[in-house]
Amino acid sequence: MYSFSSIEQLQTDLNNKQVKCEELVLQAISEIKKKQHLNAFLEVWELTALEQARNTDAKIKNGDSLGRLSGVIIGLKDNICYKGHKVSASSKILEGFESLYSATVVEKLLAEDAIIIGRLNCDEFAMGSSNENSAFGKVLNPLNENCVPGGSSGGAAVAVAADLCHVTLGSDTGGSIRQPASFTGTVGVKPTYGRVSRYGLIAYASSFDQIGPIAKNVQDAALVLEIIAGQDKHDNTSSSEKVKSYSTELSTGKKYKIAYLKECVDAEGVDPEVKKAVLNQLENFKKDGHTVEAVSFPYLDFLVPTYYVLTTAEASSNLSRFDGIHYGYRSKGATDLESTYKKSRSEGFGAEVKRRIMLGTFVLSAGYYDAYYSKGQKVRRLIHDKTKEILKDFDVIITPSTPGTAFEFGKNSADPIKMYLEDIFTVQANIAGVPAVSVPCGIHSNGLPMGIQIMAGYFEESKMLDLASVVKF
Ligand code: GLN
Repeated sequence: MYSFSSIEQLQTDLNNKQVKCEELVLQAISEIKKKQHLNAFLEVWELTALEQARNTDAKIKNGDSLGRLSGVIIGLKDNICYKGHKVSASSKILEGFESLYSATVVEKLLAEDAIIIGRLNCDEFAMGSSNENSAFGKVLNPLNENCVPGGSSGGAAVAVAADLCHVTLGSDTGGSIRQPASFTGTVGVKPTYGRVSRYGLIAYASSFDQIGPIAKNVQDAALVLEIIAGQDKHDNTSSSEKVKSYSTELSTGKKYKIAYLKECVDAEGVDPEVKKAVLNQLENFKKDGHTVEAVSFPYLDFLVPTYYVLTTAEASSNLSRFDGIHYGYRSKGATDLESTYKKSRSEGFGAEVKRRIMLGTFVLSAGYYDAYYSKGQKVRRLIHDKTKEILKDFDVIITPSTPGTAFEFGKNSADPIKMYLEDIFTVQANIAGVPAVSVPCGIHSNGLPMGIQIMAGYFEESKMLDLASVVKF
């Protein structure tokens, strides 16, 4: 059995003919079957994955030049389109739907000889913090199967943590890459808004969504990010800013000015061991010659409400296309146009998605638009400006990734507000549009991993990943 440690090592082993891509894919398929109870994969694309593996093996044999992701087995969150393959956003409403085109990120992975192995369970339409909202059942955390893996990219984090594949792509609207990364001891990156094309990503809240990698280590995440990043003519919000070579700018030894948010570290509800792990890390940074300062962020209590007002508004608009006519599921009981809409949507969407569509419709309604949606936009501007102001004086901002470690199934299910507060530290980066990464920074006495979050200025992924690469515990 091949033991994967990093993409670099894997490619050395492939070149030295110590392992073949085909063997790697067969091993992944067998591991996925063995750990099927984790429910991370919704579908495994054995045939296309094996074909991609054999193509790369042939290239190696012939001495042809290889892509930068040759031999790397990648899973896709079930909201990223891959032509000719099913995609469902873990929702019944997309039943039977097959992608008509590939997401730009998928094209970019394939162009570098990556092997795409299958699609990964997630919260329905990426709405959730625990992966309990999937129409296809919950995903188990391999580190403690009574606990959630985090969400919404729970399957994507578990696939990496449980060695089912090498890297995965998730999407992050308010923390959906970083929170599950933190709960599973993996590295998760949310890029700057506009750094990665959203073409072919099923939209949740378009002004917040970004695709990013989940990996075993910072170097692998950096490499995958630099490959999927860049301007795309299919996504007008993608940036023309030059993509840096993130993977070669790690552990540079550069000294940074680090701010940590006092209110986040001191917040009531932060697990004392999480607090300690973050403070220890800050001490390590100081010892290594970085400057560390506490900074005040007065808007902590406004983050979650702003996020939920604005994202539900965008979601109510984005999800109106799932009407029983254009895509997937259509109710058998429909008798006319109106009942087709009503019944298909009532039967096709799960409870959390319905809650958010209704909330979003409400905040956009004529009578409440000013009180909620407009107000939300104004507060978004304040949060954006304050974040930018801090990042004028500092290279990075540090917080815990999450207030606690992975929690038990059902713990927050009865109270949506409690569940929404799980996102308190991650949503700031999406509201402001800045990049953020979660890196493991310790193991709690309950045996579960803890994560530290590093945010940086717009398009400053290099700095952020450079510092992330020296986090140690
Ligand atoms: N947990 C957050 C939510 O439920 C974030 C989701 C995400 O980033 N896709 O909306």
